[in-house]
Amino acid sequence: MSQFWSPLVRMLTPYVPGEQPKVNNLIKLNTNENPYPPSPAVIKAMHAVTADSLRLYPDPDSSQLKQTLADYHGMDTNQIFVGNGSDEVLAFAFMALLKHDAPLLFPDITYSFYPVYARLFGIDYVEVPLNDQMEIDTADYLGRDCGAIIFPNPNAPTGIPLALSAIEDLLIKQPNSVIVVDEAYVDFGAESAITLTQRYPNLLVVRTFSKSRSLAGLRVGFAVGNKELIDGMERVKNSFNSYPMDRLAVAGAIASYQDEDYFQKMLQAVITTRENTTQALQQLGFSVLPSCTNFVFAKHPAFSADKLAAGLRERAIIVRHFKHPRIDQYLRISIGTNEECDKLIAALRQLTA
Ligand code: PMP
Repeated sequence: MSQFWSPLVRMLTPYVPGEQPKVNNLIKLNTNENPYPPSPAVIKAMHAVTADSLRLYPDPDSSQLKQTLADYHGMDTNQIFVGNGSDEVLAFAFMALLKHDAPLLFPDITYSFYPVYARLFGIDYVEVPLNDQMEIDTADYLGRDCGAIIFPNPNAPTGIPLALSAIEDLLIKQPNSVIVVDEAYVDFGAESAITLTQRYPNLLVVRTFSKSRSLAGLRVGFAVGNKELIDGMERVKNSFNSYPMDRLAVAGAIASYQDEDYFQKMLQAVITTRENTTQALQQLGFSVLPSCTNFVFAKHPAFSADKLAAGLRERAIIVRHFKHPRIDQYLRISIGTNEECDKLIAALRQLTA
């Protein structure tokens, strides 16, 4: 604490991302990265960026990337916002759209960056408990004082998806509140709400290249929504940083969208490993929440998650364990390659023997 800190900085509790270990040969299943590399086309496109072009500022509007995303998702470019990872896109959404007199609503168990942003931007919020099956029940978001709503679909860290019909029902019943659906993991098996943005002016869908497109290191995310919502976010972005997307990121991101075959193949590989890993965990006695993501959320009735995480770490495998009271018996395990998941299961077999 320094006397020079502003009052705002004094009361912040920053988000703590999963560990990025500095040692090699660890099996890293703690931050939901994709175990496979991005398409070779991505690296080729980034190599093709010339030194001379790096001398110049990038396009402040990232128009080419917006065009690529608009074409793929069947939208207009003015319905797309792009940013430096979906965390930044979310931050712009919080600033531009989620601060109102009534509180922002989000689940009690969800992406732990939401309360961090709410505190940073001075947004009052209420955490709405998941139901006993650890699901979001949209009925719980009705009949409350509500300035706006945000949740991931599928939710994190549970991995459980919400049906599109439930999201549409919420949009109909809360027409005066912005609803942000954070689709960081949607490609791994849930239904996207992007098409609903054409009919519901209060819906913003946020996406990332970090998970399904294996580009966590490139920092690219985007949002899709009604032009007025996007305009609001652009106003904030252009009051903060004119160039969040650098030339390399734009080149790589566009190339990723141009290699659909590779994208589908890698998705399928992760989904198959997730299903096999889920079965193997169940055979060891774990209960595993039904996941539509690239991670599973699992607990064992006889062994504490804390001890299991420590035991895995001794065996050079890192997973995520949250100390939140409702979920402190769960491990969140990112899906790795088949080989990595086989080693995880072998280690857990020893630890639960
Ligand atoms: N939303 C959710 C639900 C996430 O789990 C993550 C990853 N930590 C993000 C958004 C942010 O991803 P990125 O900033 O890498 O796009």
